[in-house]
Amino acid sequence: MNYSIALIPGDGIGPEVIKPATEVLDAVGGAWGHVFNYVELEAGGCAIDSTGEPLPQKTLEAARQCDALLLGAVGGPQWENLPGHLRPERALLGLRAGLGVFANLRPAKLLPQLRSACPLKDDVLVSSNCEGKPEFDLLIVRELTGGLYFGERGRSADGKAAFDTERYSWDEIERVLRTGYEAAAIRRKKLCVVDKANVLESSRFWREVAAVVSKEYPDIETSFLYVDNAAMQLVRAPGQFDVIATSNLFGDILSDEASVLTGSIGMLPSASLGGERDPAAKNGCPVGMYEPIHGSAPDIAGKNIANPLGTILSAAMMLRYSFGLEKEARAVEDAVSAALDAGLRTLDIAGRGRVAANETIVGAKEMGEAVIKLLEK
Ligand code: NAD
Repeated sequence: MNYSIALIPGDGIGPEVIKPATEVLDAVGGAWGHVFNYVELEAGGCAIDSTGEPLPQKTLEAARQCDALLLGAVGGPQWENLPGHLRPERALLGLRAGLGVFANLRPAKLLPQLRSACPLKDDVLVSSNCEGKPEFDLLIVRELTGGLYFGERGRSADGKAAFDTERYSWDEIERVLRTGYEAAAIRRKKLCVVDKANVLESSRFWREVAAVVSKEYPDIETSFLYVDNAAMQLVRAPGQFDVIATSNLFGDILSDEASVLTGSIGMLPSASLGGERDPAAKNGCPVGMYEPIHGSAPDIAGKNIANPLGTILSAAMMLRYSFGLEKEARAVEDAVSAALDAGLRTLDIAGRGRVAANETIVGAKEMGEAVIKLLEK
């Protein structure tokens, strides 16, 4: 089968992590008989430099024609002083809204090979793991096209005050909760709604919607936590969580916190789902946007030291969720695990900043090549 993938390498380390990911996809294509056609597009800082806007209309239109979108990262200090609507990160909001992807799935799993890169003590990890192992495996389902990031914002006439608005409709909350419940149904059947219902009216509304939607998922245990407590519980007992469903802002913050517990932000993939497929499109795949959760990491860009595994695992999520290629997705995930088993580490996941005797430090390029070598059909 042929699949078209909109490719946005973006800025900073974006191109360095996208290249190994496409090479892994091509190796998967070669082994299983699929063809991935890439449509390379500009968004973010590089698009500002060449067109004056972070998300040129032709990028969005071309992305809409593809079966899925794979993005590296956008942004960097050279664009930081531009007005808000012209900043590179605007491209992300425009793509999410333009593709209608409303649910962002962010898995955070501590792989046993990276135990030494996790800052938590063994007893902290063990205490909340039902099998008594120093591990956790959770999924944050973050609402992506509403809330504070899309609400009305502005400054007062005298320039002495500023505001942003958190606004959610019933439908926006319901659809993201359903995504969370469906994910929980094939995991450990627990869903925790994270909010700030002791203070925010919009959070109380989330709870009202959850009370209704949860009735349709009686075999899934629903719980609620205030976001400040959830931030604390993540470092106190991460093993207690299965699926966390939350708003755009809280999901953004909690998933960065969870990423540190997995060893490095460079490890974590994400899938943004929910877009309606253009009926004229040939494969009938659901539109999905896939990206590592990290940013453009200007501090390490151009040095071939970035960790490409978050992007490679994002490509695996694309195989699973957009193309329905479960076997191929698992093969990529297993190859990543095998590369870690072999002791290969990018600098960020070397044990606690010190290189252990059984670890070999490699660059983004070499890590990608190792994953390809270890890919088994
Ligand atoms: P960042 O995620 O880029 O970097 C945070 C830290 O993590 C840095 O020390 C960086 O070196 C490290 N890091 C990140 N990814 C890594 C990887 N793959 N391998 C190894 N180390 C990695 O966050 P930031 O510094 O806050 O933001 C930098 C720029 O990226 C800003 O312009 C920001 O707006 C943008 N940003 C973009 C996205 C996106 O494109 N989705 C997300 C977050 C931030």
